[in-house]
Amino acid sequence: MPLTTTSVQIEISFDLWLDRFSRFAEDLYPGRYTRAYVRELVGMAREVCSLAEQKQSVVVAHNYQYPELQEVAEIAGDSLGLSQYVAERQAPRVDFCGVLFMGETAKTILGDRSRVYMPDRPGCSLVASIDQTRIDNWVAHHPDGILISYINTDALTKARSDYICTSRNASQVLAHAARQYPGRRILFLPDKYLGAVVLSQTAVDPALVDLYDGACHVHSKIGETALEEALDRYPDAELLIHPECGCASSCLAKTMQAGPAFGKAYFLSTEQMLWHARRSPSREFIVATEMGMVYRLRKEVPEKTFYPVSYLAVCEYMKMNTLEKLLDSLENDRVEIQVDEEIQRKARAAIQRMLTIT
Ligand code: SF4
Repeated sequence: MPLTTTSVQIEISFDLWLDRFSRFAEDLYPGRYTRAYVRELVGMAREVCSLAEQKQSVVVAHNYQYPELQEVAEIAGDSLGLSQYVAERQAPRVDFCGVLFMGETAKTILGDRSRVYMPDRPGCSLVASIDQTRIDNWVAHHPDGILISYINTDALTKARSDYICTSRNASQVLAHAARQYPGRRILFLPDKYLGAVVLSQTAVDPALVDLYDGACHVHSKIGETALEEALDRYPDAELLIHPECGCASSCLAKTMQAGPAFGKAYFLSTEQMLWHARRSPSREFIVATEMGMVYRLRKEVPEKTFYPVSYLAVCEYMKMNTLEKLLDSLENDRVEIQVDEEIQRKARAAIQRMLTIT
C-alpha cells in the first residue's frame, strides 16, 4: 500500500519489500531478510511514515544505509545531494539517516529553518583522521595557504576551510582555487586517495598541493587485490570505483597504462555511478564502494547486474542506524543535531563558495 509523507509517495508493502530484499539484498546481508523480519520492518515503516507526516518531517537516507532505510526515506542519495534536497523541501523537521557529519552538514545548510534529527550519532573514520593541531601547524607555515576540505568532514573543519568539495566536483574546485590564487599553497584534506586521484585529473602543479594523510577504513581496505580478484571473476564487467578507495591510486596508474581490464575502470561518485550504469552499453558492473550502494544500483537499474567488489566493504558506522532507532527518534525526538552558530556561518560560506563554481 502506498503511504504519503508530506508530498512524496512511499511504497510499503510486505510483498514488495520481501521481493526487493530477496532479489537485491540477500547476498549483501545474508539471513537478514527473513519473512518474519520483513513483516516487522513493514509494520515499523508504516509507523515511521505516519509519524513523519504528523511531525512534518522529511526522512532522507544515505546510499550506504540499510535497504529498509533507503525504502522508507523520501530519497536516497549522497551527503550533499540529501542536504540540498532537504533545503528545497523547506520542512520544519528533517530525520537524516547517515553519519553525524552529514547531519551537521544538513543543519549547516538549513540553519534555523529546520530542526535536524538522526536515528543515532554514528562517527566516521575519515573524519576521525583529522587532527586540528596538524591543520594549525600547516596554516602557521603557510599563512596565505588555501584549505580545500572534502564534504566528509566535521563542521569545525568546514568552517576553517576556504572551499568544500565533494567527490563529484573535487577536481573543478581544486583547479578553480589554483586559478584564483596562483602560486599559493593548497592543503587538500582529509582523504589522501581522493586527493591523489583529483590531482592527477587536473593541470594543477602538484608541488603546490599538500595532501593530508587521512583515509576511510572501509574504502582503504578495498585494495588492489580485491579489485583484481573481482575482475578475474567477472571479466566482462566494468569497474565503478569510488575515488576514496584504497585501490584508487594504483587503479588510476593502471587505467593510464590502459590495460584491457583497467581500461574499463571509471572513477565516479555514488550518484555518477547511477548515471553511468544507466547509460553504459555494459550489462555488468563491479561496484567498489560501500555495499549499500549496490542495493540502490540494483533497485534503480534492475535490467543490469551489479557485484560488490568485496563483501567486506561495509561501514559499521552507517549500519548503526536502524529502522527501530529511526522510529524511536521520531517518537521521542531523541537525537537532535546542534551546530554552533558561528561555525555554521563560516561552514555555510565555504559550501556556498563551492556551489557558485560547480
Ligand atoms: S564509509 Fe568511510 S567515509 Fe563513509 S561514513 Fe563510513 S567511515 Fe566515513
